[in-house]
Parts: sequence; structure tokens; C-alpha cells
Amino acid sequence: MKNSSVSPATAVHTAAVDEFVAVRHNLHQHPELSNAETETAQRIQQVFAPFNPDKTVSQLGGTGLAFIFEGEKVGPTTLIRCELDALPIQEINDLPYRSCHAGVSHKCGHDGHMAIVAALGAELAQHRPQRGRVICHFQPAEETGAGAIQVVEDAAFAALKPDYAFALHNLPGKPLGQVLCRPGTFNFASRGMVVRLSGKTSHAAHPEDGVSPAMAMCRIVEGLTALPSQIEGFSLVTVVHACLGEVAFGTAPGEAVVMATLRTPTNEAMNTLVEQACQLARQQAEVDGLNVSLDWEDVFGASVNTDDGYQRVMRACQTAGVEAVTMEQGFRWSEDFGKFTELCEGAMFALGSGESSPQLHNPDYDFPDALIPVGLSVFRELIRELNGISS
Ligand SMILES: [Zn+2]
Ligand SMILES: [Zn+2]
Repeated sequence: MKNSSVSPATAVHTAAVDEFVAVRHNLHQHPELSNAETETAQRIQQVFAPFNPDKTVSQLGGTGLAFIFEGEKVGPTTLIRCELDALPIQEINDLPYRSCHAGVSHKCGHDGHMAIVAALGAELAQHRPQRGRVICHFQPAEETGAGAIQVVEDAAFAALKPDYAFALHNLPGKPLGQVLCRPGTFNFASRGMVVRLSGKTSHAAHPEDGVSPAMAMCRIVEGLTALPSQIEGFSLVTVVHACLGEVAFGTAPGEAVVMATLRTPTNEAMNTLVEQACQLARQQAEVDGLNVSLDWEDVFGASVNTDDGYQRVMRACQTAGVEAVTMEQGFRWSEDFGKFTELCEGAMFALGSGESSPQLHNPDYDFPDALIPVGLSVFRELIRELNGISS
């Protein structure tokens, strides 16, 4: 880890940061899955209790939390969002703060994102915004794509509606502490497609008496994989699972399932891809006289940064002395933060977690603590410009 090369802002806040390293380790040790982050939310509430936020909204969109710090003058509402959830992955790191829940761990670094926003809360407690208000938001269920929708559709969200929203995600493979951002698509839209084919089983000695989905299943696997090459612009279809019949040599199959993940840089391109994928599955089922049902899971819209949001992130980095680069393309992976920037100005940015870091969702990933002061300094400067920070 190249801690020493991180932002000059680090030195100023060292004392406070140590406290939030401990907060991260505590959260890391007690991870919870999407929409089951009850204890994590309680821990965060305990951390924020001494910060005396002007308002606290709990159970926002499920287990979500919003801590509101108000300024005296009129001004914009700025929402800083982080995520509460961990992943169904068994941790293999031998850490003193190793996950104590078997098969569950913080392998996306959301523990680190939470520690940064908690540290921001500590600063806002001492230095209230001068105008408008700042909301420290802890969102449930990011990993399944369900959380942001739950939050924005919660009746309590109307009173919190932000003018600006920002979030960060740590990013292995990039220099530690480097910010990456871009205007427009930051994360692709994605969704899981489930195609269920149903025909009729028969004795394997008399397949002609049944209706087997085997050939249609193969054509759908091939056809879905080839779809992106037939559509304008970049898109991606990855077949992730296929299953045919039962493990029985005496029976010709009557059922099949194909699952694929669809990814596109925009929501419009996703609509086109979905239409084509559905048409393909229906056509191929019809050829063999099969029934077909289509379902969608883990639906994420594209996360799109506004121009103003992007420029604010770049300015904040410059003021904070954090190296920032503009990405040429958005990330293929998805994020549900786009639900917020559909409603207001804002941006998400990536924060490099080191070139030799294990990848996100790997069983040996661990959020680098050195990023806590860096993320904090960028959020601080975003807020300083939008809301002012009292001395
Ligand atoms: Zn993740
Ligand atoms: Zn994540």
C-alpha cells in the first residue's frame, strides 16, 4: 500500500481519521446482506448520535438513514450517499477485524464508504453548513440494485429531495487516492434476463412423444451472445447460466432455463437490447412449439453524471489537492446511484484503491484505510462550494 503518496489533506485531519478507521473495522467485522442491514444501521446511528444532526430519518427505503445538517441561510440541499450492504462472499483475509458472519463480507468496500461519510458527519457537527443543508445518506441494498429505488420512492424522501447528489466508489487497479470521473455515463445500465422454456418430457427412448427445449435453448444461448454485434453502438450480453431437464438418462427434457446479463451505456440502448432479446427468445421458443416466460432481475439503470456535477468534482479535487483524471468511457459494471442523478445535479466518482489491490467482490479484497481522508477531503470541498462551511 502506498499510503505516503496520498493527498496533502491527509495530515490536517489525522486525529479524526484514526477514529473512522476504527469505525470501518467495526463495520467490516459485522457485515450484513442487502436489505438486511439492520445492525449496520444501528451502528451508524450510534456513531452519529454525538454529532447532533438537526434531523435524522431512519428506515428510509428499508434500513436506510439520512442525517441532516442545516445551515442558517437559504441554499441548496446536497446529499452525500454511501451504501450499507455487504456481499454473500466468504472472507479469506486474516484480518484482526475479519468478518464474524460466515459467508458474508464487505468485499465492495462499502465499509470504507460508510467510514468516509461518518467522518464527514463528524466534521459537519463541528462546522455546520452556512447555507442550505447537507444530508449524509446511508443507502440499503446497493448490490441488488433495489436500494436507491426504495429510497427515492419512500414517502419520507420528498422532504429530503436533493438539489445535488454525490457519491464515490473505490476502484482497484488505479493509483491509490486517484479520482476518476467523467460527464455522462459513469456506470452502464444492466439487468439479468431469465428465459424459462417449457415443453413436455417423454421417455428418452421415445423423444418424438415429447417436446424438448434442448435445441431452442442452444439457439437462444448463441443468439443472445451474438445480439450486440447486430445492434448499433456498444452493448454486451453475457450468458451466465443454462440448465436443461433433469439428471436422468431415461427422460428426455421438458424444461430449460437460460440466464444472461445485459449491459449498455444508456437506458435507451438497454430498451433496444431488451426488445431484441425478448423477440429472439419468443421466436426460438415458437419454432419448437415451446412455452416461454421472461423475467428480469437485478435491474440497474445507467448512472449518469451531470456536466455540472462532474465539473464540481474536478474542482473539489483541485482544491483538495487530490489528483483527478477524466475517464474516456463509463464503467461496464452497474450502480444504482443513477436514481439520484435522475432527479438532480450530481456525480459519482471513483477513488483508486491501488494498482495491486485485489478486485472488488474478490474474497481477499479489503478497503484501504488510506482512502478515508482522501474521500473526505473531496466531499468537504464539494460542500464548501455549495453550502459553505462555518469556521
Ligand atoms: Zn459491489
Ligand atoms: Zn459497491
